[in-house]
Amino acid sequence: MTADPDLRSSPHVRRLLGAYVLDALTDTETGAVTRHLRICGSCAAHCAELAQAASSLALLTEDDLRE
Ligand SMILES: [Zn+2]
Repeated sequence: MTADPDLRSSPHVRRLLGAYVLDALTDTETGAVTRHLRICGSCAAHCAELAQAASSLALLTEDDLRE
């Protein structure tokens, strides 16, 4: 397996979760995060929070952001 050096030095993937919930990672990174979330409840919980925040942001309109 050719792991990203950052992924190898830290088993956790929090640094990648923001991009993960926005679907902005490479396929390799997405695979690594998905595998990690299956075995790590703490990162999975963090990911769920980020996903909720991201979907709330997606509901905002430009007018909301101006207020
Ligand atoms: Zn973790």
